[in-house]
Amino acid sequence: MAGAPDSVDVAIVGGGIIGVSTAYWLARAGVRTALFEKGTLACEQSSRNWGWVRTLSRDLPEVPLALLANRRWQEIQQQVDVGYRQNGLLYLQENDRDALEHTRWLENAKSYGARAEFLSQREVRQRLPESGRAWTGAMYSASDGVAEPQLATVGIAALARDAGATLLEHCAVRGIERSAGHVSGVVTERGLVRAQNVLVAAGAWSRLFCGNHGIEFPQLKVRGSVLRTEPFDANLSLSINGKDFTCRKRADGGYTVSQFSASVAELVPDSFRLMRKFIRPWIANRSIVRVRLSDRFIDEWKIPTRFATHSESPFERCRVLDPLPYAKGIDQAWTRLQESFPVFKGARIAQSWGGYIDVTPDAMPVIAALPDNPGLFLASGFSGHGFGIGPAVGECVAALLRGGRSPVDLAAFSLSRFA
Ligand SMILES: Cc1cc2nc3c(=O)[nH]c(=O)nc-3n(C[C@H](O)[C@H](O)[C@H](O)COP(=O)(O)OP(=O)(O)OC[C@H]3O[C@@H](n4cnc5c(N)ncnc54)[C@H](O)[C@@H]3O)c2cc1C
Repeated sequence: MAGAPDSVDVAIVGGGIIGVSTAYWLARAGVRTALFEKGTLACEQSSRNWGWVRTLSRDLPEVPLALLANRRWQEIQQQVDVGYRQNGLLYLQENDRDALEHTRWLENAKSYGARAEFLSQREVRQRLPESGRAWTGAMYSASDGVAEPQLATVGIAALARDAGATLLEHCAVRGIERSAGHVSGVVTERGLVRAQNVLVAAGAWSRLFCGNHGIEFPQLKVRGSVLRTEPFDANLSLSINGKDFTCRKRADGGYTVSQFSASVAELVPDSFRLMRKFIRPWIANRSIVRVRLSDRFIDEWKIPTRFATHSESPFERCRVLDPLPYAKGIDQAWTRLQESFPVFKGARIAQSWGGYIDVTPDAMPVIAALPDNPGLFLASGFSGHGFGIGPAVGECVAALLRGGRSPVDLAAFSLSRFA
């Protein structure tokens, strides 16, 4: 096949931060690796996110991944500029309930290695002199940071290529081949590539990809929305979760702004197929995720759930998911940021964009071998927080693919928990 070896040890489906980080770790270990991306590297979630690299407020089993990731981001930044810096993260509080929620999280997260401090009202005022809002305190992590989504995945991809991996863009994988019950390769739009193991790291497409091979992966899409300002000095370098806005300084001098409530779960045929698994999280998160009917229902209705691999597949018909931002959600975030930090009234919005977040029912990913499908592995469903832990996930998945032990316990991330 043009540009790719006929045969590799590992084929990776998807060139987001998860697939690319895995390729990097495999190639470093001398494993013959080819990665296939239907669009361009990081064209979906991995270039559209807020850029937070955080331990704060994570689901507990993800904390060790986040701690390992902090070390890996530092090492990567020493080799290539991915915009990584430990600028600190504040989760602001406005009442006793916020403080209690943060205290409870830290009590539980400590045994997983998490560290954070609590700031009083006065300490918050000292750190945020530009803010006019009456914060009552904050949970703070000095070691949390950011990386630049526009730089990170392509930067790690350059390291993976230097280490010997083949990374192909504009090359969709239509499906897998099996031989004697074991995975034996991938069928791409440019032909067959034999592989002993295959990793599906296809982001929001993983459910469709797996479903075509009879593997049920409960995953839906939630539309997130973001804006960035033009370069501007607001005397604010910390990243902030202000409850009804989030804000972080960018390497280009501007700020990335959004809010957790700028998320929309569009009803699609899969919403009804998966209703039983998702109804509880929808209800529990109704204050931040709005459920809406949109044109997306018809778009997804037209996508076949089963298709042959010898002709054009859905992955070629839509190269890049590029949704419009949810204007009301980001307008609100921008207004609340300006009310909380009046200095931002002097800033100008440069751009806004949308991105589909792939979510599972418990908002945690699957990172596992699929035991009923020897040779097949899945790393997907990162539910809005896979960017920060991406380099660590790549290291863990690479260990699994090599038949070794993951440096972080992955027991909580099996697919069978959804059975
Ligand atoms: C608005 C927004 C804000 C976010 N903020 C943060 C944040 O601050 N911090 C954080 O940690 N996370 C954040 N996230 C989540 C984070 O971006 C994702 O969890 C992470 O990027 C997922 O990486 P991935 O590699 O699994 O998926 P993706 O980046 O989506 O990559 C999957 C790739 O697979 C390709 N693909 C799919 N099917 C095929 C196929 N059949 N053949 C070939 N290629 C295929 C796709 O084109 C895509 O490029 C945010 C996400 C969004 C959208």
